[in-house]
Amino acid sequence: MALMMNGLGVSKGIAIGGVHVLHRNSLEVYERIIEQSQIKSEIQRFNSAIKRASQQLKKIQSSIPAGAPKDIASFIESHLLMLDDAMLSSAPIDIIKENRCNAEWALQLQRDKLIAVFELMEDEYLKTRQDDIDHVINLIQKMLYDQKYEVEKEIQTLRGSIVVADDLTPADTVVLQHQSIAGFITELGGPLSHTAIIARSLGIPAIVGVQDARQLLKNNEQIIIDGAEGMILAGVDEKTIREYKHKRKVQKDERRKLQTLRDVDAKTRDGISINLQANIELTEDTKTLKPSGAMGVGLYRTEFLYIDRDEPASEKEQFSAYKKVIRALKGLPVTIRTLDLGAEKEFDPKYKGPMVQNPALGLRGLRRSLKDTELFKCQLRAILRASVYGPVRIMFPMITSEDELFSSYRILDQAKQELLDEGTDFDPDIPIGIMIEVPAAALLAQRFAKQCDFLSIGTNDLIQYSLAIDRIDESVNYLYDPLHPAVLKLIHLTLKAGEKANIPVAMCGEMAGDPRYTRLLLGMGLKNFSAHPATLLEIKSIINTCRIDKLEKPIKKILSVTTSPAQIHILVDELNNTF
Ligand code: PEP
Ligand code: MG
Repeated sequence: MALMMNGLGVSKGIAIGGVHVLHRNSLEVYERIIEQSQIKSEIQRFNSAIKRASQQLKKIQSSIPAGAPKDIASFIESHLLMLDDAMLSSAPIDIIKENRCNAEWALQLQRDKLIAVFELMEDEYLKTRQDDIDHVINLIQKMLYDQKYEVEKEIQTLRGSIVVADDLTPADTVVLQHQSIAGFITELGGPLSHTAIIARSLGIPAIVGVQDARQLLKNNEQIIIDGAEGMILAGVDEKTIREYKHKRKVQKDERRKLQTLRDVDAKTRDGISINLQANIELTEDTKTLKPSGAMGVGLYRTEFLYIDRDEPASEKEQFSAYKKVIRALKGLPVTIRTLDLGAEKEFDPKYKGPMVQNPALGLRGLRRSLKDTELFKCQLRAILRASVYGPVRIMFPMITSEDELFSSYRILDQAKQELLDEGTDFDPDIPIGIMIEVPAAALLAQRFAKQCDFLSIGTNDLIQYSLAIDRIDESVNYLYDPLHPAVLKLIHLTLKAGEKANIPVAMCGEMAGDPRYTRLLLGMGLKNFSAHPATLLEIKSIINTCRIDKLEKPIKKILSVTTSPAQIHILVDELNNTF
């Protein structure tokens, strides 16, 4: 009998294959009080387990195939660092000594303590990192339980299978990658879990959060998974399998066809050139730009130079990161956004500011930079110095008033003057732009447009602030709507302001990379899109089939709707199906 199950589709694509269930329940932890005389040998047993866990991970690390996504290596690296950290390598030893408990129990007590700290974190991404603690602790527990345990032996030949597991560790995924598996299903995990991140970068269809998947799906049975829909079909007949095989072929052909657009210009059928650029976060991301056909970087998020470290990156380190990106772009422009810390990007272990109730409304983005002008100037100096290696633009995030812009210019001037005094080269005419992410900035876009060289609409925050919904609060996700009439109005105001002042307006929020909105945005007058490299070719394929002159009338109608977002959704669907 056919069975349909649903989960969260985190990596699109269709996979058809036999199920391979990985049964790897957490080990039951055996709790025992030991004799004083056994403490020494128990500590030795624990140290030996840590050592073997580390050797295993290093072995797997050395077998990461060339070209594997960098996420895999960095996850394994972070697990190795955890094994080395006192919180795992020595705290359990103190517990063994103080409480006279066996190593497994001590480790479990330490785990509970660490997880309790993670539970209190508000940052969703950091919260998901408690999986890492569990993965590493589980590995040590296995080493304590079985001296001969090996990750690789646990995963047999799985070529072409759809792997069903409770959860997957980064080490699992390296081993699995050698096996060319067809798809992943996990019971745990969310859109930011390892399985999700890695499956996306490998292009393997994956569905997470499927309750009881290991019980409901039987080994070797043929199933179909549709990663875009988050749907699993089991017990299906030949006809359905044929249908999905056809669908899979169509999708593959479409992906291949998109590749042919890489070197084609993005130009509408009525001859309007559109600038497609990429959003990047790490210097290594520049590798993804060529295959995406990006004409530059429209948003380089620089937060990684500050997050998860004890000290922010020095001017030297920042300079070399920026220079690396600029050089990799070989003459294409790079828009470097200054530090946007705060809210969901909070991190700073040394931050001494008050704990606030609403960090998204707190000291974030440019406000934060203006409070710590030395930090800000250090970043500006690094960007200016790097600007001699290629075209660079500076962009300020989270601006709400002209005063903030003027204060930023003052610090920029100081940085320039310092460099001049030192005899250090930089581009004196470096263009300066701001992000329009707060309704106040959109409403004042005409004023801002006179004071800077470009604007860039950050819809992720603009939507959050216009509709008063925390973008990382799952309970209000359903209200997050790029097509809300108020949001469209603010976007339109910004585009018009740029047009009037004759300066470019870009969009670098997620909306720019969502093909459902491409026609709408083109019709509203957007000519500069900046999005995740993976979506750029699809956006280009839509642009190249559109005529902007034909979009004007339906767009006017959409913008006249002020009552119901639902009505706008219908009109945008119509727009997508007609043009
Ligand atoms: C945005 O807010 O749309 C944006 C691009 O910035 P971030 O997602 O980094 O806040
Ligand atoms: Mg933002």
